[in-house]
Parts: sequence; structure tokens; C-alpha cells
Amino acid sequence: MARPRLEEIATRVWAARVEPCDVTIGVIGGDDGVLVVDAPGSVAAGRALCAAVTALDAGPVLGVVHTHAHLDHVLGAAAFRELDPAVPVHAQTEAVAALDAAARGASRALHDDLLPHLEAAEQEAAVAAPIVVPDRPLSSVRAVDLGGRLVELVHPGRGHTAGDLVVRVPDVDLVLAGDLVEESGPPSYGPDAHPLDWPASLDVVLGLLSGRSIVLPGHGAPMDRDAVEEQRALLGVVAETVRDLATRGVPADEALEAAPWPFPSAGLEHAVARGYAALPLLRRRLPLL
Ligand SMILES: [Zn+2]
Repeated sequence: MARPRLEEIATRVWAARVEPCDVTIGVIGGDDGVLVVDAPGSVAAGRALCAAVTALDAGPVLGVVHTHAHLDHVLGAAAFRELDPAVPVHAQTEAVAALDAAARGASRALHDDLLPHLEAAEQEAAVAAPIVVPDRPLSSVRAVDLGGRLVELVHPGRGHTAGDLVVRVPDVDLVLAGDLVEESGPPSYGPDAHPLDWPASLDVVLGLLSGRSIVLPGHGAPMDRDAVEEQRALLGVVAETVRDLATRGVPADEALEAAPWPFPSAGLEHAVARGYAALPLLRRRLPLL
């Protein structure tokens, strides 16, 4: 597999877009080595990324961070463990729990989410791939010292999943935001999304940004603050529309046709189901039997 092209998007911060699923990976350099933010969606692609990181000649891999538990951002971590069995893997506690359940075979949810996006041969590899359970869980914040550079891992709240993390590199005013924002398509609402919490969590991320910040999304090219703000507004419209329809007693299975939506409605099935389920019963005004 060809090595991904790591492009330096800020001083000692590199980014690459890798298949499967066109995931955006970040590599952050310090004096002691590098931190890899997200791994590709297959072990083979993980090995190719390892080779590209080694070719940077920026020092050893000091750690891997998963911005969330989705396997398109995770499966390649096994390749970094092949290189160094002791390499720390950081993730938010909810993401660790989801990956632990998948690793033990106790839950198929993460695989069910990934497999439809893969070719048949890739599906077999994904099912067979070992899942690295992150050994550095964090609940809200952690600073990671890369030598001469402190990097912050922040859980801004629930959104794309229950265990989203963003990674901030303060000295270059850059944030790696995982799938809390996307550039190459609309934000992805899956069966584990928290559509009503997502806007407020993105407000926390916006609070970490200046007017000149660079934001690396989970899929796509770097974004500026305005683009993140715009996406936050649209996520807010989704949450408000869910609340409004539920309060007016519109059944969940009619919601997608009952209102205009800021994103293609084909991708909003889970946004509606999860949003309705999260509302208190009284606000759903269910018809009386
Ligand atoms: Zn995701």
C-alpha cells in the first residue's frame, strides 16, 4: 500500500487524507517525537501511515490519540503497536468502553457502522483486524508533553459520539476536531450520535479557537473558524427542528418530511431517532391511549 502524503499544515504539524473512508490524520511533532491523531481504518493503511511517519524523521511515535471510537479512525492503531508494543493510546473513557466492547466481541455496533462503507475484501480484513483498547483513558482533559510542545486533549461534551476528543496545539493555534466537524461532507449522525448535545459541545470547541485558528476535521481539508461556526449553526438547526417537531407531536417517522432540514435528510434518520429518544417524555407529547 502506498504511503500517504503527509503535508505540513503548520510548524511541525502534518496532515494526510487516507483510505478507507477518506479519514484525515494528524501528526504533531515535538522535540522528543510525534503524536499521531487518529489511525486509518485498516491495519494495512496503518502500516503505510507508520512508514510515512517514520519517513518524516521527526522522532519516535510517543502516542496515538483516537478522536472517537469509530473504526475508520481506529483500526490502523494495531500497526503502531506492531512497531512499538508499548506505545500509549489515548481516548476518552466512553470511546475506550466502546472499543473494549468491540474488542471482546460484546458489541457489533462499531463494525456494523464501518462495514457498509468498505469493499468486500476490506470488510473481511476489518472483521479480522485486532482492536487496540486504548490504555490511556481520560474523562475531560489531558496535557501531553512532546518535548518543548504541550498538546491538549479535550473532551468538549457529547456530539458525534459520547466520547469525542479534540486535540489542541496552542503554539500554532490549531485544533484537530475529529468528526465533530467535517469538511468533505455533512456532519455524520450515526446510531451513537447525540444530536441535541452536539451544538453545545461545538461551542466549547469554538471557545478554543481564535479568528486565525486552523481546524483539521475528521474528514476533509483544513477549515477556518468561520466554517466551524457555520457548521455549528446548522447542527443547531437540526437540534431545534427535532425539538420543535417532537413538541408539536409530529411522530418521529414523519419528521424528515415534516420540516426543511439543513443537511440531506437521507443522513438524518439517526439524528431524528436519537433526538426524539433523548427528549423528556412530556416534551414528546405522545398521543394519549
Ligand atoms: Zn466518526
